[in-house]
Amino acid sequence: MKRITILGSTGSIGRSALEVISKCRDRFKVVGLTAGSNITLLEEQIKVFEPEMAAVADEATAIELGKRLNIKVLSGNAGLTEIASYSRSDFVLSAIVGFAGLLPTLSAVRAGKTVGLANKESLVVAGDIIMGDAAKYGSKIIPVDSEHSAIFQCVDGRSRESVKRVVLTASGGPFFGRNREELGKMTPEDALKHPNWDMGKKITIDSATLMNKGLEVIEAHHLFGFSSDKIDVLVHPQSIVHSMVEFKDRSYLAQLSVPDMKGPIAYALSYPERLEDPMPVLDLSRIEKLTFRKPDTECFPCLLYAYEASKEGGTMPAVLNAANEVAVDAFLQKKIGFNDIPVIIKDTMNSHRKEAVREIDVVIEADRWAREKAKKYILRSS
Ligand code: NDP
Repeated sequence: MKRITILGSTGSIGRSALEVISKCRDRFKVVGLTAGSNITLLEEQIKVFEPEMAAVADEATAIELGKRLNIKVLSGNAGLTEIASYSRSDFVLSAIVGFAGLLPTLSAVRAGKTVGLANKESLVVAGDIIMGDAAKYGSKIIPVDSEHSAIFQCVDGRSRESVKRVVLTASGGPFFGRNREELGKMTPEDALKHPNWDMGKKITIDSATLMNKGLEVIEAHHLFGFSSDKIDVLVHPQSIVHSMVEFKDRSYLAQLSVPDMKGPIAYALSYPERLEDPMPVLDLSRIEKLTFRKPDTECFPCLLYAYEASKEGGTMPAVLNAANEVAVDAFLQKKIGFNDIPVIIKDTMNSHRKEAVREIDVVIEADRWAREKAKKYILRSS
């Protein structure tokens, strides 16, 4: 029986993970669940999965919930880092969104857990520290992001030297093919209508700007040890090929399935085994074509900024990430337009003096600085 903690169980990934687990209760036991503010859903999940402890953002809520359900409920950042390293769990699914997932992920890694990593932002901002600590503390990191899960499956058991490059596929998001003028008129409601994937709000906007792919380039660099010039991106609107690897003999391996996060979540949970039918069948005979195209980085420059940040290294990826989180939030609140998102990110990056990252505190300070800078830009321009 594998004992599982889910950080962010009330989110899109967390809910899908519980769906997978609910069909395999003989293999998996949920021991920890966490929510930010969706306490109603967390309470339902606690009743169904009976974890040994839970964590929420607010202290008063934690005390009240703990008394009502007769379970240990932790709170705040300290609660998240404690539950992430809980000694009675074997596997931690890191599925909190954004920078908030960094310290809990690091805590799970430093406790030597097997970590199913959905929270890409933690690798983006502190990839060297996380991967270094994973090696030091014996933690295995299994990617949950569908592209990285695909690459993980393609390179498994093969030498890094045999790989020529990796190709991350991108759906292109809801605005694929639009010009800048059209993009300027797009509202959060338009951007939240993703053609293929049903995801949380932040990643759906990142998908529309192509920043999601940019974050994934940096994530792939840390997970697999390839420099960003060996990581390419192709737009593949059908979202059937989840990514591919080109080997030095010029042959490719790709991983295909219907676009359903239950697939990569199930693979991370059961690795190296596979579960029976965690997602619907892919019927290739009903898919007329699989197409691939270069991304339009003039209209969607966030992807280029991520490559730049990856090459710069140090604190620059943390600055890119923080400015993006602030800009996406402002767009969702209708304070800025869609085309302002890359402008804010670039302005913040241009103002930053990069520092080397040896300690996590340097990342936390870069994040704080970049958020302040991006917020000031938004205030000035509104
Ligand atoms: P959601 O917005 O759906 O869920 C986010 C989760 O994080 C919720 O449980 C939320 O709690 C919790 N949370 C948010 N802020 C905090 C905080 N400050 N403290 C504690 N908990 C917090 O996001 P997704 O599930 O879509 O994404 C999660 C991660 O997985 C992201 O990093 C994303 O990039 C990655 N990912 C997601 C994919 C998807 O298909 N959704 C695909 C690949 C990667 P609550 O709702 O209770 O407030």
